Amino acid sequence: MSSSNGAVAPSAFPPPVDPVGEFVKRELDSEDERIEVGVAIVGGGTAGLATANRLLQLLGDDPETMERLGEVPVAVIEKAKTCGGHNLSGAVMRPGPLQELFGDMTREQWREQGFAFGEVTKEAVYMTPTSKIALRIPPPPPFKNHGNEVVSVSALARFQQQQAEEGGAYILTETSATQLLVTDGKVQGVRTGDKGRGKDGQPLGNFEPGTDVTAQATVLAEGCWGHLTGAAIREFDLGENREPQVWELGVKEVWKVPKPLDRLIHTIGPWPLKLSPKYGQIGGTWIYPMKNEKTGEDLVSIGFVVDLEYADATTSAHDLLQLFKLHPLVRKILEGGERVAWGAKALPGGGYWSMPKLTMPGALMVGDSGGMVDTVALKGVHHCIKSGILAADAIYAQLKRGGSDFSSYEQAVEDSSIGKELYEVRNTRQPFQKGFVWGGPIVNAMIATKGKFPGGRWGWHRNDDKPMFIGDTKDKYPKPDGKYTFDKLSSVYITGNATRDDAPNHIRVQKEIPREVAETWVWMCPAGVYEIPEDAPEHGNVDLIVNYTNCVQCGAITAKGGRLTPPEGGDGPLYTQT
Ligand SMILES: Cc1cc2nc3c(=O)[nH]c(=O)nc-3n(C[C@H](O)[C@H](O)[C@H](O)COP(=O)(O)OP(=O)(O)OC[C@H]3O[C@@H](n4cnc5c(N)ncnc54)[C@H](O)[C@@H]3O)c2cc1C
Ligand code: SF4
Repeated sequence: MSSSNGAVAPSAFPPPVDPVGEFVKRELDSEDERIEVGVAIVGGGTAGLATANRLLQLLGDDPETMERLGEVPVAVIEKAKTCGGHNLSGAVMRPGPLQELFGDMTREQWREQGFAFGEVTKEAVYMTPTSKIALRIPPPPPFKNHGNEVVSVSALARFQQQQAEEGGAYILTETSATQLLVTDGKVQGVRTGDKGRGKDGQPLGNFEPGTDVTAQATVLAEGCWGHLTGAAIREFDLGENREPQVWELGVKEVWKVPKPLDRLIHTIGPWPLKLSPKYGQIGGTWIYPMKNEKTGEDLVSIGFVVDLEYADATTSAHDLLQLFKLHPLVRKILEGGERVAWGAKALPGGGYWSMPKLTMPGALMVGDSGGMVDTVALKGVHHCIKSGILAADAIYAQLKRGGSDFSSYEQAVEDSSIGKELYEVRNTRQPFQKGFVWGGPIVNAMIATKGKFPGGRWGWHRNDDKPMFIGDTKDKYPKPDGKYTFDKLSSVYITGNATRDDAPNHIRVQKEIPREVAETWVWMCPAGVYEIPEDAPEHGNVDLIVNYTNCVQCGAITAKGGRLTPPEGGDGPLYTQT
């Protein structure tokens, strides 16, 4: 199983976890011990908060139904210190759904609120064949962004939280939802996690047990890899006849720059990735201008996204971003500036065929939980907001008449801009599994014909089934200078990561594993969580060290053979500008 460079798939070493057994609770606490709410929304990101925002708009005009939902009509359960704390995106957003959600706000007002940074009027797409050359090409259709808005989803979530609170929502921050409550084949709400446990799970002096939060409707808005979403998919068989979900990982930095960037930039490689299909590397970069109208600062969002389908264990999105910054195209934008933020996050890349069934008795899914991202265009924010609007409409219509059948939401998504846009790109990413050179022309044909040619249903294989080998991608990574290029730990530091040193380990992985799997996790993890002991043998199994308190909860480990579970509420990064 474990010879060096023997190409080992991480899925051969599955995490010690039983999602349905551990994460579904089948008996409710007594009525006086639990909290009853009208609608429980798990996840205070863009999608969950859009659901809350819309619901409260509807309930605001209907005091009778509001009253019927009890003292807490809408509760949002968010594990970060504040909404926005764990949210990260590029982010250039299609504006329609946000305009629909807050119909009386202008885009100028978005910018005054500090979550939007200007309309895209100029853009450029480059091929980067080498570390020195950038060839400008006409923007392929998925890269056309004219009229879109550059935003920060972290700042947007804070704004949405404030709106939701003004509308009467109860926002439970620093609270992880750790179990799905299921009785009689129906989701009844969620259980929140305990707080104040020590390294070995023992209760400390400040121990507070979790609580059952029961609800008439539960919304799973957990983002890219949902802890309860995964349990729900298994419990209700929501992935039947769908393709497996696959993921990408993005690392982002925000820079204060000396002179404003006047255009949106994408590069499509192949540099700094390898062209040979043996490496399985597909990815790209973005550079977006962010003019902060509140502070007057000229900021730039820059990031590198890599498909987690790669085979070279030494692929590291963080180090590839550092390498990319050395390209003259980037240097002339960033040099003389200062890095002000860093973060990392995975996103679901399977698209239309990988979307699970979105509804189950008592609950539904919105945004990335439901896999609603077009990864060719790298766009999901507008789908998150639209799905929140549609979910709120479906829930409100049922609760108003005392019902709990939310299945109309499924068709509403299919018929909306979400279903239409994702269907058009249903086959567009999969051909890249054949490599950039072979897959590229098929991708172009799929884009030109909106998935009709060569047509069919293109499948995915799971990212953790990819056999990994120890390659040489790492040989190109720059040595961080601490000013322009950075290591992982100093990057985690600026996220404000606040995980207690004596918190229990929330990362489930096998620790006695072949070197190929260990190296995969060491290089992949943007936060430097995994370490191979210096005296570990070159061949055979190694004893992995897991520095879990560094984790920024990007979710990538779940795609590549391990399992992220929610740590104690309040732990993890505190993003503000990502
Ligand atoms: C690197 C990168 C670049 C991107 N670029 C773009 C772009 O330019 N344009 C675009 O439109 N889209 C882009 N996307 C996609 C877009 O960012 C996502 O589709 C969108 O932000 C997802 O929003 P969400 O609310 O569904 O999930 P999230 O933003 O992930 O929010 C989920 C929230 O739920 C919380 N949570 C999760 N589980 C629990 C739990 N069990 N208990 C309590 N809280 C929980 C999390 O802390 C988080 O706050 C990008 C994504 C990435 C990763
Ligand atoms: S340990 Fe945390 S930061 Fe590292 S890959 Fe896993 S989820 Fe991401």
